[in-house]
Amino acid sequence: MNELLLLSMITAVSLHLFPRYDGVVVELVGQQVLNPAVQASGSTVRIDFGEQVNLVETTLLPIWIDRLTADSSGFTVEFDLLIASADWALSGDSLSMIVFARAEEEILLPPVAWQSPPAPPDTTLWSDSLVYAALERGDGSPWLVDFDCIVIDPGHGGRDPGAVGASGSQEKDRTLEISLMVRDLLRIRMPELRVVLTRTVDEYVSLGTRTLMANRNRADLFVSIHCNAAENRSAHGFETYFLSRARTDDARAVEMLENNVLELDEVSAVPDDPLSFLLADMAQSIFQNQSSHLAGAIQSRFGHAFPVRRDRGVKRAGFYVLRGAYMPAVLVEVGFISNPEEEQGLLSLDFRFRAAQAIVESIIEYAERES
Ligand SMILES: [Zn+2]
Repeated sequence: MNELLLLSMITAVSLHLFPRYDGVVVELVGQQVLNPAVQASGSTVRIDFGEQVNLVETTLLPIWIDRLTADSSGFTVEFDLLIASADWALSGDSLSMIVFARAEEEILLPPVAWQSPPAPPDTTLWSDSLVYAALERGDGSPWLVDFDCIVIDPGHGGRDPGAVGASGSQEKDRTLEISLMVRDLLRIRMPELRVVLTRTVDEYVSLGTRTLMANRNRADLFVSIHCNAAENRSAHGFETYFLSRARTDDARAVEMLENNVLELDEVSAVPDDPLSFLLADMAQSIFQNQSSHLAGAIQSRFGHAFPVRRDRGVKRAGFYVLRGAYMPAVLVEVGFISNPEEEQGLLSLDFRFRAAQAIVESIIEYAERES
């Protein structure tokens, strides 16, 4: 490919930086990111493209990104702290790039990096009677007016490690990393959307509390993120579930695995009265079409992001964590932590970034379809 052609391929690059629990995310969106090199030195991170970036859009640049002009071939981000390491990954289509800079201490950024998401509405819970009345009227979603809030649920946490891989890595850590990345990418791509995580640190949150948070926030969508496990270590691939009675033995096995955590729940956190269960099932059957559309979109985006991995399809199972949600809800099993190869994937930034981006793209597709 000749140089002139490469030059003409980048028409827009925008940068966004977000404070994270362990660093910052820099995302660049262009027609092609070329072949970047990232270097941390002292308190700066330098990103080089080896080619002129030919910027068109620069409006979103935070003021503290230095030396990036329309004709530069890279840029430098200056921090107040010494940077311990910088890691980066490209999306499968090479259109976006994400950079994580890690400092020894928490990085505090000036408050110019991103517009704060809108404040949450009052947190009055939809009372059961209100939901019940709406469901009886056949008016399934009086609370889903605009697509303005999503709850991302990192599976497991705290004393519940989830599945454990051959090399000892725990599902709860991988699901949190991917979920934080999904949140960061959604803030970039849908700045008006309120993104709520059921946990942002390694802590135990009961299954009942997770859906309660979604209902209290009047979320329009609930996405639970998990890693799969099977006794057969060669089992691999990705699959997405929505709530229904499990149809196959495999789905029943995954359902049992993810519902196991109920034993760890305090009794009070589990709404076990018949009315709650009935309501939850009615709600999820009303949202079944929307949930299955989203599940299909996630599978197809994963298929594009991971063309050589196995697409295990959209499945139905009776996951407890989806049960109490009064909104469309899916559970994504991004890969098998019990498969040594996929476990290594889950441990790599590149794999997790592709997975997070596939989830984000399907949420955007879903939002466009619903509104
Ligand atoms: Zn899980």
